[in-house]
Order: sequence, then structure tokens, then C-alpha cells
Amino acid sequence: MDLLHRFTPKFMQWDRPAWQVRSVLSKLLLCRTQTLGRHLYRCGQCEREVTVYNSCGDRHCPQCGGARRAEWAETSSEVILPGVPYFQVVFTLPDKLSALILGNRQTLYNLLFHSAWKALKRQVLASGRFQPAALMVLHT
Ligand SMILES: [Zn+2]
Repeated sequence: MDLLHRFTPKFMQWDRPAWQVRSVLSKLLLCRTQTLGRHLYRCGQCEREVTVYNSCGDRHCPQCGGARRAEWAETSSEVILPGVPYFQVVFTLPDKLSALILGNRQTLYNLLFHSAWKALKRQVLASGRFQPAALMVLHT
């Protein structure tokens, strides 16, 4: 008996479910389990460790935000204009700020986004050739 069959409720055990259904269910069952691997985070000051299991990333998954990510990607693609050049710009923070950010995420992420947009806008407007716009994503 495979893992999918063992953890699938009886009412969902068809004789021959479509491979797509089996694929999605497999991902959802394995989301945030050891099978998909893990990340180990260690505090640089107190040495406390936290294990976070990897997510499945499937757009149907209610557990890991795969659905929200897929929805965001779809919505974001609607604002992409054909024939307009796009560039990726990355803003990074020094790792010395990590502990401060962990305790003040909302405030410091807002400050980061606000400052990044202000700097980007100033540079683009200084060129005198483009109208600035940005789609900003926090990548940790
Ligand atoms: Zn998931």
C-alpha cells in the first residue's frame, strides 16, 4: 500500500483517479513533512534551532500558501505590459539587522519597501526617459 493510499480518506479512494488528481493529492499529503526535506534555522545569538519542513508549493494546497502564490502570480501577470522592458532590481539588508527585523517585521519590512521604492523612483525619474513602476516582492 503506497503512502497516498494509506492517508487518503475512504471517500476519496477511487478505483482509478486521474493522474492529475493523484499528483495533487500526493503533494498535499507530503506538504511540510520530512519527505520534502527541511530547513534548519539557528539563532546567531542564543543558538536555538528551529526545523521548518519544506512546502509542496502546489496551487491547491491550503497549508503552504501555494494557492495564494498562484493567485498572486496570475494577478501580477495582468499588469505586465507587452513591449515594455522590465528589470529586476534587488535590495538587500545587512545580516547584522536580522535580529532587529525578526522582532519588528511589519515596521521594518514597510520601511524597506518604502525606501526601496523611493530610491528606485528617484533613479528612474532622473533618467528623464521612463515612467517608474514597480512590483515588489519580499524574498527572505
Ligand atoms: Zn503545500
